[in-house]
Amino acid sequence: MAKTERIRAAVRFATRAHEGQLRKTGEPYIVHPLATQKILEEWNMDEDTQIAGLLHDVVEDTGYTLEEIEGEFGKDVAFLVNGVTKLGKARQNMRDLGEYLPATSDNLLKLLIATGQDIRVLIIKLADRLHNLRTLSALPPAKQQKIARESLEVFGPLADRLQMGRVRVEIEETSFKYLDLKRYEFLKDLTAKRLEQADKKLKNAQEGVGAALKKEGLKYTNDGRVKSIYSLHKKLAKYNQDVDRIYDLIALRYIVEDVTTCYLVLGIIHALFSPMDGRFKDYIATPKQNGYQSLHTTVITPDKQVVEFQIRTKEMHDYAERGLAASFYYNEQKLTSAYARGQVDKLPMNLLWIKELQEATAKLSGGEKVDTRKLKLNMFADKIFVYTPKGDIIDLPKGSMPLDFAYRLHSEVGAKCTGAKVNGKLVNLNTRLMQGDIVEILTAKNTKPNPGWLTKAFSRHARSKIFSQLKKGS
Ligand code: MN
Repeated sequence: MAKTERIRAAVRFATRAHEGQLRKTGEPYIVHPLATQKILEEWNMDEDTQIAGLLHDVVEDTGYTLEEIEGEFGKDVAFLVNGVTKLGKARQNMRDLGEYLPATSDNLLKLLIATGQDIRVLIIKLADRLHNLRTLSALPPAKQQKIARESLEVFGPLADRLQMGRVRVEIEETSFKYLDLKRYEFLKDLTAKRLEQADKKLKNAQEGVGAALKKEGLKYTNDGRVKSIYSLHKKLAKYNQDVDRIYDLIALRYIVEDVTTCYLVLGIIHALFSPMDGRFKDYIATPKQNGYQSLHTTVITPDKQVVEFQIRTKEMHDYAERGLAASFYYNEQKLTSAYARGQVDKLPMNLLWIKELQEATAKLSGGEKVDTRKLKLNMFADKIFVYTPKGDIIDLPKGSMPLDFAYRLHSEVGAKCTGAKVNGKLVNLNTRLMQGDIVEILTAKNTKPNPGWLTKAFSRHARSKIFSQLKKGS
Protein backbone atom coordinates (compact mmCIF):
# COMPACT_ATOMS: atom_id res chain seq x y z
CA MET A 1 0.00 0.00 0.00
CA ALA A 2 1.28 3.43 -0.90
CA LYS A 3 1.79 5.80 1.99
CA THR A 4 -0.60 8.72 2.18
CA GLU A 5 0.71 12.29 2.11
CA ARG A 6 0.03 12.68 5.86
CA ILE A 7 2.00 9.51 6.61
CA ARG A 8 4.88 10.71 4.47
CA ALA A 9 4.82 14.02 6.33
CA ALA A 10 5.01 12.09 9.61
CA VAL A 11 8.00 10.09 8.31
CA ARG A 12 9.77 13.40 7.59
CA PHE A 13 8.80 14.81 11.00
CA ALA A 14 10.04 11.73 12.87
CA THR A 15 13.25 11.59 10.83
CA ARG A 16 13.99 15.22 11.71
CA ALA A 17 13.10 14.68 15.38
CA HIS A 18 15.30 11.60 15.84
CA GLU A 19 18.14 13.02 13.71
CA GLY A 20 21.51 11.90 15.04
CA GLN A 21 20.06 9.35 17.50
CA LEU A 22 21.15 5.73 17.24
CA ARG A 23 19.54 2.51 18.40
CA LYS A 24 21.49 -0.01 20.44
CA THR A 25 21.81 -1.99 17.21
CA GLY A 26 23.87 0.88 15.80
CA GLU A 27 21.24 1.78 13.21
CA PRO A 28 19.74 5.28 12.95
CA TYR A 29 16.87 5.55 15.45
CA ILE A 30 14.28 6.24 12.73
CA VAL A 31 14.45 2.56 11.75
CA HIS A 32 12.37 1.75 14.84
CA PRO A 33 9.43 4.15 14.30
CA LEU A 34 9.38 3.17 10.63
CA ALA A 35 9.17 -0.51 11.55
CA THR A 36 6.41 0.24 14.06
CA GLN A 37 4.39 2.02 11.37
CA LYS A 38 4.95 -0.86 8.96
CA ILE A 39 3.56 -3.34 11.47
CA LEU A 40 0.51 -1.15 12.09
CA GLU A 41 -0.04 -0.95 8.34
CA GLU A 42 0.07 -4.76 8.14
CA TRP A 43 -2.57 -4.82 10.85
CA ASN A 44 -4.86 -2.59 8.74
CA MET A 45 -4.80 0.20 11.29
CA ASP A 46 -6.12 3.63 10.37
CA GLU A 47 -3.96 6.55 9.22
CA ASP A 48 -3.92 8.32 12.61
CA THR A 49 -2.68 5.18 14.33
CA GLN A 50 0.08 4.69 11.77
CA ILE A 51 1.14 8.32 12.19
CA ALA A 52 1.14 7.98 15.98
CA GLY A 53 3.26 4.84 15.49
CA LEU A 54 5.81 6.94 13.61
CA LEU A 55 5.80 9.60 16.33
CA HIS A 56 5.43 7.39 19.40
CA ASP A 57 8.93 8.06 20.79
CA VAL A 58 9.16 11.71 19.77
CA VAL A 59 7.81 13.34 22.94
CA GLU A 60 9.80 11.13 25.27
CA ASP A 61 13.10 11.08 23.41
CA THR A 62 13.39 14.31 21.45
CA GLY A 63 13.03 18.06 21.94
CA TYR A 64 9.68 18.17 20.11
CA THR A 65 6.51 18.65 22.13
CA LEU A 66 3.01 17.27 22.04
CA GLU A 67 1.74 20.72 21.02
CA GLU A 68 3.92 20.66 17.91
CA ILE A 69 2.57 17.24 17.01
CA GLU A 70 -0.98 18.44 17.51
CA GLY A 71 -0.26 21.49 15.34
CA GLU A 72 1.03 19.35 12.49
CA PHE A 73 -1.12 16.24 12.72
CA GLY A 74 -4.20 17.11 14.75
CA LYS A 75 -5.80 16.28 18.07
CA ASP A 76 -6.35 12.55 17.50
CA VAL A 77 -2.71 11.83 16.68
CA ALA A 78 -1.58 13.92 19.65
CA PHE A 79 -3.99 12.00 21.90
CA LEU A 80 -2.55 8.68 20.76
CA VAL A 81 1.09 9.76 21.12
CA ASN A 82 0.32 11.13 24.57
CA GLY A 83 -1.37 7.84 25.46
CA VAL A 84 1.65 5.79 24.44
CA THR A 85 3.96 8.14 26.37
CA LYS A 86 1.74 8.00 29.48
CA LEU A 87 1.45 4.25 29.17
CA GLY A 88 5.20 3.92 29.51
CA LYS A 89 5.05 5.85 32.75
CA ALA A 90 1.96 4.05 34.04
CA ARG A 91 3.68 0.75 33.47
CA GLN A 92 6.64 2.00 35.45
CA ASN A 93 4.33 2.90 38.34
CA MET A 94 2.61 -0.44 38.14
CA ARG A 95 5.94 -2.17 38.26
CA ASP A 96 6.91 -0.18 41.33
CA LEU A 97 3.62 -1.00 42.96
CA GLY A 98 3.69 -4.45 41.48
CA GLU A 99 7.05 -5.57 42.70
CA TYR A 100 5.23 -7.95 44.96
CA LEU A 101 2.63 -9.01 42.43
CA PRO A 102 2.93 -12.57 41.18
CA ALA A 103 4.34 -12.83 37.71
CA THR A 104 1.11 -14.05 36.14
CA SER A 105 -0.93 -10.98 36.94
CA ASP A 106 -3.02 -9.87 33.99
CA ASN A 107 -2.64 -6.15 33.91
CA LEU A 108 -4.74 -5.46 30.86
CA LEU A 109 -7.54 -3.64 32.63
CA LYS A 110 -5.08 -1.43 34.46
CA LEU A 111 -3.24 -0.74 31.23
CA LEU A 112 -6.41 0.28 29.49
CA ILE A 113 -7.25 2.70 32.29
CA ALA A 114 -3.85 4.27 31.78
CA THR A 115 -4.43 4.74 28.05
CA GLY A 116 -7.53 6.86 28.38
CA GLN A 117 -9.42 3.85 27.09
CA ASP A 118 -8.46 4.14 23.46
CA ILE A 119 -7.53 0.60 22.52
CA ARG A 120 -5.37 1.95 19.68
CA VAL A 121 -2.82 3.10 22.25
CA LEU A 122 -2.35 -0.51 23.32
CA ILE A 123 -2.13 -1.61 19.70
CA ILE A 124 0.65 0.91 18.99
CA LYS A 125 2.43 -0.32 22.11
CA LEU A 126 2.05 -3.88 20.86
CA ALA A 127 3.61 -2.98 17.50
CA ASP A 128 6.39 -1.08 19.28
CA ARG A 129 7.08 -4.08 21.50
CA LEU A 130 7.04 -6.52 18.62
CA HIS A 131 9.79 -4.60 16.84
CA ASN A 132 11.80 -4.25 20.04
CA LEU A 133 11.59 -8.01 20.53
CA ARG A 134 12.71 -8.64 16.98
CA THR A 135 15.84 -6.60 17.68
CA LEU A 136 16.35 -7.66 21.29
CA SER A 137 19.75 -9.25 20.68
CA ALA A 138 21.37 -5.81 20.66
CA LEU A 139 20.55 -5.17 24.32
CA PRO A 140 22.54 -6.25 27.38
CA PRO A 141 21.35 -9.58 28.89
CA ALA A 142 19.69 -8.06 31.98
CA LYS A 143 17.56 -5.78 29.83
CA GLN A 144 16.75 -8.65 27.49
CA GLN A 145 15.39 -10.68 30.41
CA LYS A 146 13.30 -7.82 31.70
CA ILE A 147 11.72 -7.06 28.33
CA ALA A 148 11.19 -10.74 27.53
CA ARG A 149 9.47 -11.35 30.87
CA GLU A 150 7.19 -8.35 30.54
CA SER A 151 6.35 -9.36 26.98
CA LEU A 152 5.26 -12.81 28.12
CA GLU A 153 3.20 -11.43 30.98
CA VAL A 154 1.52 -8.46 29.36
CA PHE A 155 1.88 -8.35 25.59
CA GLY A 156 1.35 -12.04 24.84
CA PRO A 157 -2.01 -12.03 26.67
CA LEU A 158 -2.86 -8.73 24.98
CA ALA A 159 -2.27 -10.19 21.51
CA ASP A 160 -4.34 -13.19 22.54
CA ARG A 161 -7.14 -10.90 23.68
CA LEU A 162 -7.07 -9.22 20.28
CA GLN A 163 -7.13 -12.73 18.81
CA MET A 164 -3.91 -12.03 16.92
CA GLY A 165 -2.67 -15.61 17.05
CA ARG A 166 0.33 -15.13 14.85
CA VAL A 167 1.55 -12.12 16.83
CA ARG A 168 0.99 -13.89 20.15
CA VAL A 169 3.06 -16.86 19.02
CA GLU A 170 5.88 -14.61 17.81
CA ILE A 171 5.94 -12.72 21.11
CA GLU A 172 5.86 -15.91 23.17
CA GLU A 173 8.45 -17.83 21.19
CA THR A 174 10.90 -14.92 21.06
CA SER A 175 10.52 -14.05 24.73
CA PHE A 176 10.73 -17.63 25.89
CA LYS A 177 13.93 -18.14 23.91
CA TYR A 178 15.54 -15.25 25.77
CA LEU A 179 14.22 -16.32 29.16
CA ASP A 180 15.12 -19.99 29.01
CA LEU A 181 17.14 -20.94 25.95
CA LYS A 182 18.01 -24.40 27.26
CA ARG A 183 14.39 -25.33 27.85
CA TYR A 184 13.36 -23.81 24.54
CA GLU A 185 15.89 -25.90 22.64
CA PHE A 186 15.07 -29.03 24.57
CA LEU A 187 11.37 -28.70 23.71
CA LYS A 188 12.13 -27.83 20.12
CA ASP A 189 14.17 -31.02 19.80
CA LEU A 190 11.45 -33.02 21.46
CA THR A 191 8.84 -31.68 19.05
CA ALA A 192 11.05 -32.35 16.05
CA LYS A 193 11.63 -35.95 17.12
CA ARG A 194 7.93 -36.53 17.68
CA LEU A 195 7.15 -35.02 14.33
CA GLU A 196 9.60 -37.34 12.63
CA GLN A 197 8.12 -40.39 14.36
CA ALA A 198 4.58 -39.39 13.48
CA ASP A 199 5.25 -38.25 9.96
CA LYS A 200 4.45 -41.44 8.07
CA LYS A 201 1.38 -42.23 10.14
CA LEU A 202 0.09 -38.69 9.75
CA LYS A 203 0.54 -38.97 6.00
CA ASN A 204 -1.60 -42.10 5.99
CA ALA A 205 -4.36 -40.34 7.93
CA GLN A 206 -4.13 -37.31 5.68
CA GLU A 207 -4.37 -39.41 2.54
CA GLY A 208 -7.35 -41.31 3.92
CA VAL A 209 -9.23 -38.11 4.70
CA GLY A 210 -8.18 -36.53 1.39
CA ALA A 211 -9.58 -39.46 -0.61
CA ALA A 212 -12.88 -39.41 1.28
CA LEU A 213 -13.28 -35.65 0.84
CA LYS A 214 -12.52 -35.92 -2.85
CA LYS A 215 -15.14 -38.62 -3.23
CA GLU A 216 -17.69 -36.26 -1.70
CA GLY A 217 -16.55 -33.45 -3.96
CA LEU A 218 -15.54 -31.22 -1.02
CA LYS A 219 -12.93 -28.54 -1.59
CA TYR A 220 -10.37 -27.83 1.10
CA THR A 221 -6.87 -26.66 1.82
CA ASN A 222 -4.78 -28.44 4.32
CA ASP A 223 -1.93 -27.64 6.64
CA GLY A 224 -0.19 -29.22 9.58
CA ARG A 225 0.06 -27.23 12.74
CA VAL A 226 2.79 -27.89 15.28
CA LYS A 227 2.12 -26.56 18.76
CA SER A 228 4.27 -23.59 19.64
CA ILE A 229 7.16 -24.25 22.00
CA TYR A 230 5.87 -21.93 24.69
CA SER A 231 2.35 -23.42 24.68
CA LEU A 232 3.92 -26.86 24.92
CA HIS A 233 6.01 -25.67 27.87
CA LYS A 234 2.90 -24.37 29.63
CA LYS A 235 0.87 -27.48 28.88
CA LEU A 236 3.60 -29.86 30.05
CA ALA A 237 3.56 -28.14 33.42
CA LYS A 238 -0.12 -29.09 33.70
CA TYR A 239 0.48 -32.70 32.64
CA ASN A 240 3.36 -33.61 34.89
CA GLN A 241 5.87 -33.14 32.04
CA ASP A 242 4.42 -36.20 30.31
CA VAL A 243 4.56 -35.44 26.60
CA ASP A 244 2.54 -38.56 25.78
CA ARG A 245 -0.48 -36.88 27.30
CA ILE A 246 -0.26 -33.90 24.95
CA TYR A 247 -2.58 -34.94 22.14
CA ASP A 248 -2.50 -31.73 20.18
CA LEU A 249 1.26 -31.51 19.74
CA ILE A 250 0.64 -31.96 16.05
CA ALA A 251 -2.68 -31.15 14.46
CA LEU A 252 -3.99 -31.52 10.94
CA ARG A 253 -5.90 -28.49 9.84
CA TYR A 254 -8.64 -28.43 7.21
CA ILE A 255 -9.73 -25.08 5.85
CA VAL A 256 -13.00 -25.26 3.92
CA GLU A 257 -15.51 -22.99 2.22
CA ASP A 258 -18.38 -22.69 4.67
CA VAL A 259 -19.69 -23.76 8.05
CA THR A 260 -21.81 -26.62 6.68
CA THR A 261 -18.72 -28.13 5.08
CA CYS A 262 -16.91 -27.96 8.43
CA TYR A 263 -19.47 -30.33 9.94
CA LEU A 264 -19.43 -32.56 6.85
CA VAL A 265 -15.67 -32.93 7.12
CA LEU A 266 -16.01 -33.69 10.82
CA GLY A 267 -18.52 -36.44 10.02
CA ILE A 268 -16.18 -37.95 7.46
CA ILE A 269 -13.25 -37.94 9.89
CA HIS A 270 -15.33 -39.58 12.60
CA ALA A 271 -16.49 -42.21 10.14
CA LEU A 272 -12.88 -43.03 9.23
CA PHE A 273 -11.29 -43.03 12.68
CA SER A 274 -12.51 -43.54 16.20
CA PRO A 275 -12.89 -40.24 18.04
CA MET A 276 -11.46 -40.07 21.54
CA ASP A 277 -13.95 -39.53 24.30
CA GLY A 278 -14.34 -35.98 25.52
CA ARG A 279 -11.95 -34.57 22.94
CA PHE A 280 -14.46 -33.05 20.54
CA LYS A 281 -14.87 -29.29 20.86
CA ASP A 282 -17.33 -27.23 18.86
CA TYR A 283 -15.83 -23.76 18.99
CA ILE A 284 -18.00 -22.80 16.02
CA ALA A 285 -21.22 -23.04 18.00
CA THR A 286 -19.48 -21.85 21.18
CA PRO A 287 -16.50 -19.64 20.33
CA LYS A 288 -13.66 -19.19 22.82
CA GLN A 289 -13.64 -16.05 24.94
CA ASN A 290 -11.50 -14.21 22.45
CA GLY A 291 -13.78 -15.13 19.55
CA TYR A 292 -11.76 -18.10 18.23
CA GLN A 293 -13.83 -20.49 16.11
CA SER A 294 -12.99 -23.96 14.84
CA LEU A 295 -13.98 -27.60 15.29
CA HIS A 296 -11.43 -29.68 17.19
CA THR A 297 -11.47 -33.42 17.48
CA THR A 298 -8.90 -36.01 18.47
CA VAL A 299 -9.02 -39.46 16.88
CA ILE A 300 -7.07 -42.70 16.96
CA THR A 301 -6.02 -43.99 13.55
CA PRO A 302 -5.83 -47.71 12.66
CA ASP A 303 -2.03 -47.55 13.12
CA LYS A 304 -2.62 -46.29 16.68
CA GLN A 305 -1.61 -42.72 16.02
CA VAL A 306 -3.43 -40.08 18.08
CA VAL A 307 -4.18 -37.11 15.81
CA GLU A 308 -5.96 -33.85 16.44
CA PHE A 309 -7.97 -32.40 13.57
CA GLN A 310 -8.97 -28.76 13.36
CA ILE A 311 -11.65 -27.78 10.88
CA ARG A 312 -12.61 -24.20 10.07
CA THR A 313 -13.63 -21.81 7.30
CA LYS A 314 -11.19 -19.50 5.58
CA GLU A 315 -12.65 -16.53 7.44
CA MET A 316 -12.30 -18.26 10.82
CA HIS A 317 -8.72 -19.11 9.94
CA ASP A 318 -7.93 -15.50 9.11
CA TYR A 319 -9.45 -14.33 12.38
CA ALA A 320 -7.45 -16.86 14.35
CA GLU A 321 -4.20 -15.79 12.75
CA ARG A 322 -4.70 -12.04 12.35
CA GLY A 323 -7.62 -11.27 14.67
CA LEU A 324 -8.19 -7.60 14.88
CA ALA A 325 -6.54 -6.92 11.53
CA ALA A 326 -8.80 -9.49 9.86
CA SER A 327 -11.85 -7.91 11.49
CA PHE A 328 -11.19 -4.65 9.80
CA TYR A 329 -10.49 -6.38 6.54
CA TYR A 330 -13.78 -8.26 6.58
CA ASN A 331 -15.78 -5.35 7.85
CA GLU A 332 -14.13 -2.95 5.39
CA GLN A 333 -13.63 -0.46 8.11
CA LYS A 334 -10.77 0.84 10.15
CA LEU A 335 -10.51 1.15 13.88
CA THR A 336 -11.05 4.89 13.83
CA SER A 337 -11.26 7.00 16.95
CA ALA A 338 -15.02 6.55 17.41
CA TYR A 339 -14.73 2.77 17.25
CA ALA A 340 -11.59 2.60 19.29
CA ARG A 341 -13.11 4.60 22.12
CA GLY A 342 -16.25 2.52 22.13
CA GLN A 343 -18.52 5.30 20.91
CA VAL A 344 -19.98 3.18 18.14
CA ASP A 345 -22.04 0.04 18.57
CA LYS A 346 -21.16 -1.52 15.28
CA LEU A 347 -17.92 -3.20 16.31
CA PRO A 348 -17.54 -6.67 14.80
CA MET A 349 -19.00 -9.31 17.10
CA ASN A 350 -15.69 -10.75 18.13
CA LEU A 351 -14.47 -7.33 19.25
CA LEU A 352 -17.45 -6.37 21.37
CA TRP A 353 -15.40 -7.12 24.48
CA ILE A 354 -13.36 -4.00 23.67
CA LYS A 355 -16.45 -1.90 24.13
CA GLU A 356 -17.42 -3.58 27.37
CA LEU A 357 -13.94 -3.22 28.73
CA GLN A 358 -13.93 0.45 27.80
CA GLU A 359 -17.21 1.08 29.56
CA ALA A 360 -15.91 -0.68 32.66
CA THR A 361 -12.63 1.24 32.66
CA ALA A 362 -14.40 4.56 32.08
CA LYS A 363 -16.43 3.96 35.23
CA LEU A 364 -13.47 2.69 37.24
CA SER A 365 -11.30 5.65 36.35
CA GLY A 366 -14.21 7.97 37.16
CA GLY A 367 -14.15 6.56 40.68
CA GLU A 368 -17.33 4.56 40.18
CA LYS A 369 -17.59 0.99 41.39
CA VAL A 370 -18.05 -1.54 38.65
CA ASP A 371 -19.73 -4.86 39.03
CA THR A 372 -17.42 -6.84 36.80
CA ARG A 373 -19.59 -9.89 37.44
CA LYS A 374 -22.11 -8.30 35.13
CA LEU A 375 -19.63 -7.93 32.32
CA LYS A 376 -20.15 -10.48 29.61
CA LEU A 377 -16.46 -10.36 28.95
CA ASN A 378 -15.60 -13.29 31.10
CA MET A 379 -12.01 -12.35 30.59
CA PHE A 380 -11.64 -11.96 34.31
CA ALA A 381 -13.94 -14.86 35.12
CA ASP A 382 -11.56 -16.31 37.66
CA LYS A 383 -10.54 -12.98 39.13
CA ILE A 384 -11.85 -10.29 41.39
CA PHE A 385 -10.74 -6.69 41.57
CA VAL A 386 -10.58 -5.11 45.01
CA TYR A 387 -9.27 -1.79 46.23
CA THR A 388 -6.79 -0.53 48.77
CA PRO A 389 -8.13 2.31 50.94
CA LYS A 390 -6.17 4.66 48.64
CA GLY A 391 -8.03 3.35 45.60
CA ASP A 392 -5.31 1.21 44.00
CA ILE A 393 -6.77 -1.73 42.15
CA ILE A 394 -5.53 -5.18 43.13
CA ASP A 395 -6.60 -8.26 41.24
CA LEU A 396 -6.86 -11.56 43.09
CA PRO A 397 -8.05 -15.04 42.24
CA LYS A 398 -11.72 -15.58 42.98
CA GLY A 399 -12.07 -17.10 46.47
CA SER A 400 -9.35 -14.89 47.98
CA MET A 401 -9.53 -13.75 51.59
CA PRO A 402 -7.91 -10.85 53.47
CA LEU A 403 -4.59 -12.69 53.93
CA ASP A 404 -4.32 -13.16 50.16
CA PHE A 405 -4.73 -9.43 49.79
CA ALA A 406 -2.20 -8.70 52.55
CA TYR A 407 0.45 -10.96 51.01
CA ARG A 408 -0.13 -9.37 47.64
CA LEU A 409 0.70 -5.97 49.08
CA HIS A 410 3.89 -7.23 50.70
CA SER A 411 4.91 -10.44 52.43
CA GLU A 412 5.72 -8.40 55.56
CA VAL A 413 2.23 -6.88 55.58
CA GLY A 414 0.98 -10.46 55.40
CA ALA A 415 3.20 -11.70 58.21
CA LYS A 416 2.17 -8.88 60.57
CA CYS A 417 -1.55 -9.11 59.82
CA THR A 418 -3.82 -9.07 62.89
CA GLY A 419 -7.13 -8.44 61.19
CA ALA A 420 -8.86 -6.81 58.29
CA LYS A 421 -11.57 -4.31 57.51
CA VAL A 422 -13.70 -4.80 54.43
CA ASN A 423 -15.69 -1.76 53.33
CA GLY A 424 -14.90 -0.20 56.69
CA LYS A 425 -16.10 -3.13 58.85
CA LEU A 426 -13.96 -5.54 60.84
CA VAL A 427 -14.19 -9.07 59.41
CA ASN A 428 -12.86 -12.54 60.15
CA LEU A 429 -9.77 -13.56 58.24
CA ASN A 430 -11.73 -16.37 56.57
CA THR A 431 -14.12 -13.93 54.89
CA ARG A 432 -14.27 -14.28 51.13
CA LEU A 433 -13.55 -11.02 49.35
CA MET A 434 -16.03 -9.82 46.76
CA GLN A 435 -15.68 -7.83 43.59
CA GLY A 436 -15.13 -4.15 44.35
CA ASP A 437 -14.48 -4.53 48.10
CA ILE A 438 -12.26 -1.97 49.75
CA VAL A 439 -9.83 -3.87 51.92
CA GLU A 440 -7.71 -2.54 54.74
CA ILE A 441 -5.18 -4.69 56.56
CA LEU A 442 -4.48 -4.15 60.25
CA THR A 443 -0.99 -5.03 61.41
CA ALA A 444 0.97 -5.29 64.63
CA LYS A 445 4.71 -5.58 65.10
CA ASN A 446 4.68 -8.71 67.24
CA THR A 447 2.34 -10.81 65.13
CA LYS A 448 3.59 -13.98 63.48
CA PRO A 449 2.06 -16.33 60.92
CA ASN A 450 0.54 -19.46 62.47
CA PRO A 451 -0.31 -22.79 60.80
CA GLY A 452 -4.04 -22.01 60.97
CA TRP A 453 -3.42 -19.28 58.39
CA LEU A 454 -2.99 -21.90 55.68
CA THR A 455 -6.75 -22.51 55.85
CA LYS A 456 -7.41 -18.79 55.65
CA ALA A 457 -5.43 -18.14 52.48
CA PHE A 458 -6.62 -19.18 49.07
CA SER A 459 -4.03 -18.01 46.55
CA ARG A 460 -0.96 -20.03 45.80
CA HIS A 461 1.10 -16.90 46.29
CA ALA A 462 -0.05 -16.27 49.87
CA ARG A 463 0.03 -19.94 50.82
CA SER A 464 3.59 -20.41 49.64
CA LYS A 465 4.72 -17.27 51.47
CA ILE A 466 3.03 -18.39 54.70
CA PHE A 467 4.55 -21.81 54.26
CA SER A 468 8.06 -20.53 53.93
CA GLN A 469 7.63 -18.04 56.79
CA LEU A 470 6.37 -20.85 59.06
CA LYS A 471 9.34 -22.96 58.10
CA LYS A 472 11.72 -20.16 58.86
CA GLY A 473 9.89 -19.69 62.16
CA SER A 474 9.75 -15.97 61.58
MN1 MN B 1 9.44 2.62 20.77
